[in-house]
Amino acid sequence: MSDYKLQVEAIQNGSVIDHIPAHRGLKILKFFKLAQANEKITVGLNLNKTNGQQKDLIKVENTFISDEQANQLALFAPGATINQIKNFKVVNKFKVQLPEAFVGVLACPNSNCISHNEPVNTQFYVNNRTELTLKCHYCEKSFNRSFFNELD
Ligand SMILES: [Zn+2]
Repeated sequence: MSDYKLQVEAIQNGSVIDHIPAHRGLKILKFFKLAQANEKITVGLNLNKTNGQQKDLIKVENTFISDEQANQLALFAPGATINQIKNFKVVNKFKVQLPEAFVGVLACPNSNCISHNEPVNTQFYVNNRTELTLKCHYCEKSFNRSFFNELD
């Protein structure tokens, strides 16, 4: 049995987020406040992949990642896969996908942006999917992920 199978099957019900780039796992835990729900969480950091690279992996019991969360996960881990487990079996497996836009998720890094002073949901369009740059709906400036405090 491969390491991969063992890692996934060791959970009875819940979600396994796999193929997270190394060093992004803890950021994901923080961003989604996963640890605050009091469910059992197992985190693997810097696990060896067969291609010689390293990855992080998160198992959350009794929690199913929503489509919206899966979209947001792409901000951290565009190549991540989500396995949904029921009774120790993978019942659903899918790759996260960058949506066209993120609404109300991130604050605009431009401090002069009107979104900081008006009661509006922030809105960013995904401009460049490979380098991940996001364009603000309000000030129309583009930012790469390093500009967003939430993603750090
Ligand atoms: Zn803006």
